[in-house]
Amino acid sequence: MPNPHNDLIASAIETVVALGLLFDEIRAGNGPIWTAYAILATKGITPEAAQTLRAAVRGAAVVHLASAAGISADHVTRDALIYRESPRISIPDLLKPVGTIEQQVALQLDIAEDILELGASQDEVFGGENRAGILDPLPVIGSVTFWATRLAVAGYIVSMAATVGKEEEFVRQAVAVIDNKTTETCLNVHGQIVEEKENFKLSGTPQYASEMHDPPFHNGCRTSVAMIAKKYVDPDVTSGMRDEAIEQEKAPFVSSREGMAKYHVYGNKVREFREGRWHSFKQLKSNFDARKLAATLNNMTRS
Ligand SMILES: [Zn+2]
Repeated sequence: MPNPHNDLIASAIETVVALGLLFDEIRAGNGPIWTAYAILATKGITPEAAQTLRAAVRGAAVVHLASAAGISADHVTRDALIYRESPRISIPDLLKPVGTIEQQVALQLDIAEDILELGASQDEVFGGENRAGILDPLPVIGSVTFWATRLAVAGYIVSMAATVGKEEEFVRQAVAVIDNKTTETCLNVHGQIVEEKENFKLSGTPQYASEMHDPPFHNGCRTSVAMIAKKYVDPDVTSGMRDEAIEQEKAPFVSSREGMAKYHVYGNKVREFREGRWHSFKQLKSNFDARKLAATLNNMTRS
C-alpha cells in the first residue's frame, strides 16, 4: 500500500545524500577554494593576488550554492509528485550569502596585510605544517557548506508551502542520514516532528543552539526536513526512524578511516594502535562516549 509519509522521508533522505556529496566537492583538497588559497600562499599578498582569491572564492560559492538550489528544486519536484501537485519552485537568493562569504575572505586578507606590516612571520599568515594561518580556507569552506544546507532547506520549505500549502496543514520532520558520520545531535533529532511555527529541540553535540527552526543545526550539518501533510502522518514511520537512530548509537563506531584510524572502539573502551597492535587506552561510561572520544582523537568530520 502506498505510504506518502514514507515516500516523503525517502525523498528527504535523497536530499541529505545529495548535500553530503556536494559537501565532498566543496571540501575537496583539489577544489577551487583550496587551490586559490594555495596560489596566494606561493605568490604572496599582492593586490592582484588578493583580487584573484576573492574572485575565485566568489565564483566557487556561486557554483556550489547554485547546486544546493538545484538539490532543493529536485526535492520539491519529487514531493510535488507525491502530493499530486505541480511543483512551484522558488529559487532562494544566492547573492547575499555569496557576499558574506566574500567578505569573510576580504577580512582575512585585511588582517593578514595588517599583521605582515607589524612583522608577522609567514607561518602566522599562511599557516605552518600543523596549523592554520590567518589566511585559512577552512572557515570559508565551512560557510559555503552552512549556506548550502540553509538554502536547500529554506528553498524547499518556501516552495512546498507554495505547491501544496494552501489546501494542507503541514508539520515539519527532521531527517538525517544515519551513518557513521551522523552527529549525536542529528541522531537525537532524526524523526522529530514540529508544527509550522515551532522550533526543533536539540540535544547532544555539536549544536548552534538548543532550539532551531530549521537545519543546519551545527557546522557541516547536512540534515534536511520533510514537509508532511497532517493527514499523512504515520506514527509507524516515525518510530522506524527513531529505531534506526537508536540502533546506530548502540553500534560500535566503525571509522571511515578504517586501517588508518589510530583509535577504535570496543564496547565502552577506546583502544589505541601503536607498535603494530591495539592497546587499551581509556574506558568510558558508555559506548557512545567511547565513540565520541575516538572520533575526536581520530579527528573525524561528522555531519
Ligand atoms: Zn547534522
